[in-house]
Amino acid sequence: MSSSMSGGSRRGPALDVAVVGGGMVGAAAAMSLARAGFATALLEARAPAPWQATEDVDLRVVGLAPSSIALLDELGVWTSIRQMRSSPYAHMHVWDAQSGASIDFDAADEDRQLLGYIVENNLVQSVLWEALESAGVRRLYPAKVGGYERREDRVQIELDQGDAVAARLLVAADGAGSPLRDLAGIATRGRDYGQRAIVAHVRTERPHCATAWQRFLATGPLALLPLADGRSSIVWSLPDDEAARVLMLDDEAFRAELGVASDFRLGPILATTRRAAFPLKLQLAESYVAERFVLLGDAAHTVHPLAGQGVNLGLRDVTELRDTLVAARDAGRDIAAAHVLRRYARRRRSADTLDALGFDALARIYGWQAPPWAAARALGIRALDRLTPLKQRIAAHAAGR
Ligand SMILES: Cc1cc2nc3c(=O)[nH]c(=O)nc-3n(C[C@H](O)[C@H](O)[C@H](O)COP(=O)(O)OP(=O)(O)OC[C@H]3O[C@@H](n4cnc5c(N)ncnc54)[C@H](O)[C@@H]3O)c2cc1C
Repeated sequence: MSSSMSGGSRRGPALDVAVVGGGMVGAAAAMSLARAGFATALLEARAPAPWQATEDVDLRVVGLAPSSIALLDELGVWTSIRQMRSSPYAHMHVWDAQSGASIDFDAADEDRQLLGYIVENNLVQSVLWEALESAGVRRLYPAKVGGYERREDRVQIELDQGDAVAARLLVAADGAGSPLRDLAGIATRGRDYGQRAIVAHVRTERPHCATAWQRFLATGPLALLPLADGRSSIVWSLPDDEAARVLMLDDEAFRAELGVASDFRLGPILATTRRAAFPLKLQLAESYVAERFVLLGDAAHTVHPLAGQGVNLGLRDVTELRDTLVAARDAGRDIAAAHVLRRYARRRRSADTLDALGFDALARIYGWQAPPWAAARALGIRALDRLTPLKQRIAAHAAGR
């Protein structure tokens, strides 16, 4: 392990917070808490490989909303990420395959220059990871957490390698499958969409025009997100068996099917990278907190990618947690006191639940292909496009305001 730490003294643990999981959310949380003055460590099972400009764009990209960009900027990492490789977008065009109804979101309508940026997951993770030490975060890796024990004033975290780390508060940002959530005895609810999202980067005949395109098909949504090099990154949600079939197609057949699915909006698909697929599910933790324990990011909530909001919700958790802990410390309270953690949980869980159920409702509505539902959906889209104030509210919400 690259750094080590003992269990703390009798006066209390040396660490205020131990964050487990160095994905985008955990790394941002550790950095944000350290910058707010908390003694923080980040424990990660696998350290991220350094991002290389010479390598092709990573298959996993995300659309960062203005609220996420504001947090990364505050942490002093956004300028590097933006300059290394990022793709700003100012428009979003969403249209329905069956009815042809469409809706447009434009940054200018919102008095903004941009709706967001498309960036690679591993770029954000790697820039945060490199900046952690100068922010005062103790990075422990490879450090796979195998268990933890609650004591009166601390949590004792056991690593598979045999070491132990003690902190006042344990923050679990260990992803959708969160082993720590299970160890804390927190159940989840939700459902498997029976769908997989196929991702790839494609070259199209026509330019993407700094626009995120999304088409709702009978089988699920297809998004084409603009990349800096002129290609588009696709997120194509399909039922499991269809996804398995599409993954097996040779490149020529895949390009042809994708061209049809995208309605040739950007012209024929001229080239594609390899493809990967991710299973899609809705999952919400029954509780976001337990004794001296907080869930963050995908460990707390996993949503359908149709709204492109997964990591944006996780980064909003980070800001809320930091603000809650700072307020508790400034008021002279124990940062891990039950009422402090409940305050964080109340605020985030209700917001996340509304978002997750909203995206789920959309996923369901777009799954209804029978004519009356399809007609209702078309009417809904047309009405929404005309209702500027409602559209503005949706856009403002997506931006995290
Ligand atoms: C196809 C697809 C497209 C998406 N598009 C978007 C988008 O456009 N916009 C958006 O906002 N979101 C999007 N998302 C969601 C987004 O990718 C996730 O919300 C985000 O990556 C979750 O980050 P995280 O840090 O919470 O978890 P993770 O990235 O899963 O990180 C968890 C970390 O914990 C570590 N870990 C696990 N167990 C242990 C342990 N026992 N000990 C130590 N470490 C451990 C792991 O090694 C890992 O590094 C998309 C998702 C998919 C599948």
